[in-house]
Amino acid sequence: MPKKSKGAIDVCPTCGNKVDKPTKTWQLVAPLPDAQGRITITVMGVYECDKCGNRWKGVVSKIKAGGTSVEVEGKKGTKKIETAPRSKDEGYVIELNLEEGEEDEEE
Ligand SMILES: [Zn+2]
Repeated sequence: MPKKSKGAIDVCPTCGNKVDKPTKTWQLVAPLPDAQGRITITVMGVYECDKCGNRWKGVVSKIKAGGTSVEVEGKKGTKKIETAPRSKDEGYVIELNLEEGEEDEEE
């Protein structure tokens, strides 16, 4: 891809018009946590230029959630929100129920 000046996501790549907000957004959740056990949620958006009708999509923001903080990465930079502190050794617990049918306990 040609390297255009890396404009803001909300600026039309064709005519340079600034769009207020995306017409549609959705989230992509990374299936695996990062090294710090956080899940990355990418917010994607579709923008539509009201001048030339161009449509494009891009990353609106990224959210990293897990542990004791939530990090939101957006146009204005990264914002870190501390969530309620937990006791140190209490991790991020994901319970998986892998039991299948009738597996009775053995002795
Ligand atoms: Zn445009």
